[in-house]
Amino acid sequence: MPVADEILQGLAWEPNQPPAGLPRQERLRRLRHSASHLMAQAVRELFPTVKLAIGPPIENGFYYDMDLPRSLTDEDLPEIEKRMRKIVARDPQFFRAELPRLRAVELFREWQQDYKLELLAGIPDANVSLYKQDRFIDLCAGPHVAQGGVCGHFKLLSVAGAYWRGDEKNPMLQRIYGTAWETAEELAEYLQYLEDSKSRDHRKLGLQLDLFSFHPWSAGCPFWHPRGLAVREELRRMWRETHKKAGYIEIMNPVLYRKELFETSGHWEHFQKDMFLVQDSADPEAAMALKPMNCPDTMLFYKTRQHSYRELPLRISQGQLLHRNEPMGALHGLMRARVFSQDDAHIYLHEDQIQEEIVRVLDLLKLIYSYFGLRYSITLSTKPEKAMGDPALWEKAEAGLRLALESLQLPYQVEAGGGAFYGPKIDVMVHDSMGRKWQCGTVQLDFNQPRRFELEFIDRDNTARTPVVIHRALFGSVERFLGILLEHYAGALPTWLAPVQAVVLPIAEGQEAYARQVVEEFEAAGLRTELGAADSKISYRIREAEMHKIPYMLVVGKREAENGTLSVRTYQEKDRGAMARSAVIEEMVSKTRQRTLDVTVKDYSSLFRTEAAATAEPHY
Ligand SMILES: [Zn+2]
Ligand SMILES: [Zn+2]
Repeated sequence: MPVADEILQGLAWEPNQPPAGLPRQERLRRLRHSASHLMAQAVRELFPTVKLAIGPPIENGFYYDMDLPRSLTDEDLPEIEKRMRKIVARDPQFFRAELPRLRAVELFREWQQDYKLELLAGIPDANVSLYKQDRFIDLCAGPHVAQGGVCGHFKLLSVAGAYWRGDEKNPMLQRIYGTAWETAEELAEYLQYLEDSKSRDHRKLGLQLDLFSFHPWSAGCPFWHPRGLAVREELRRMWRETHKKAGYIEIMNPVLYRKELFETSGHWEHFQKDMFLVQDSADPEAAMALKPMNCPDTMLFYKTRQHSYRELPLRISQGQLLHRNEPMGALHGLMRARVFSQDDAHIYLHEDQIQEEIVRVLDLLKLIYSYFGLRYSITLSTKPEKAMGDPALWEKAEAGLRLALESLQLPYQVEAGGGAFYGPKIDVMVHDSMGRKWQCGTVQLDFNQPRRFELEFIDRDNTARTPVVIHRALFGSVERFLGILLEHYAGALPTWLAPVQAVVLPIAEGQEAYARQVVEEFEAAGLRTELGAADSKISYRIREAEMHKIPYMLVVGKREAENGTLSVRTYQEKDRGAMARSAVIEEMVSKTRQRTLDVTVKDYSSLFRTEAAATAEPHY
């Protein structure tokens, strides 16, 4: 009798029974892992000599790496899928068995499964586990579902080459990617999500909407087109208006500094390779650099005069361009560029003012995020092991942050020991409609820089004291925030933020004079309005305006020109019929002033929802 048969006869197969009440993420992980086994089974039906490598669940799906007698193409996927569906329809039971590792080696050697033998060689345990469904047996630590029938809502997505163990010196294997979900609705939504993500890429939208572009010679720095600049300016306008009300002042400092600034801040030592160094031809000794952040030079501004406790908190912002020498491979459109601006501000305050000031910062954050309809979550990071500064100050600061969050009833998570060495911080993650999280807002306390720069204020008792500084940003990088917004809204920005708020479209040349008059009237009301000259069919120009996601399309034909009205079509609501010009202006001005969120966006976040984590099970 072959060794394999003998070994298999000796195995005690137990039906696999997952514990009840698993959270969704864990159920999905098992379902996807099981789908990868079912896929391997289907592939083996087609290619009996297949050598299997690894087949894990991944985010939103699974893959299996295998060594096949020929290369697969996307055309092979329907056949594999068909066979998988047949297997799923039989609803096979998943079984689990344990055996000594050395017996497993004999088994997989006889089956000529070289990759499994390599995996076995790397397992330190005396026993290993096998899983099987039907007659398909795999070396696997699990975990899996009970019955394969639950894996029916799957789709194979692509094939790709993958080196065994990710090492180029190893043979190239073939990887089949798939996705699997608990319901047909979820699967359909995920497939739509994949389609949508392509068209929502902000780099693509940047070109489509004529907002910005890149050129290889600018090495990762964007060119802002008039329309893109209009959006930036609008964002900036909102930012200035809200911050002025909240008591912030704005300054403008240089962007180029001698190294002494960065030596004082510590960036020269720790951050130099991320900075662009600049040579002064008149003085080769004087090393200079473009600033990568606003913190150090804002300290210099603080030092331009004496300060009294009466001025604190002193809230200083600047929106200068920052440069960072990011590796070319890490660049990603506006999300990671080599030039950007931060909407940060530095608040200098007395340590007794921490809690009150944090409340004010978070209140402002709440207001600003509400204009975009963005959901967010908050993390509080506390004192790390290597911390500088007075422990009492740390305690006061952490308590201040906590009380501020609690008084605003903002739920938050604590990352114990996650703070910077110079102070605790609050990070704000924005949740977008694609189910992703982006770290945008940050509120960081700093006990270190004020000392390095020897900052002072004269306190109530006439003694000089060191202020605490808060570094805070709400958008983070303005460019990146814009990239996030573009993807979040699929390019259809709300009226107040849209680069072109209205386009006036005369049906024929005869109405161009009236159309021009309408454009002037709307522009005079402060609305960004363009004329879509009657040089082509009206249906074509409407389609073009929709491509540019312009919120208001104002069509004027003979009747409108005679009556002095507009035929209104909006990107969101489509045909609104004939309206008086004054009514349209009033509506648009009011939306702009109040920053009304007048867009609805397909939101995929529920697809990626997570529940509390279950106890992790080992897997290899
Ligand atoms: Zn497995
Ligand atoms: Zn800073």
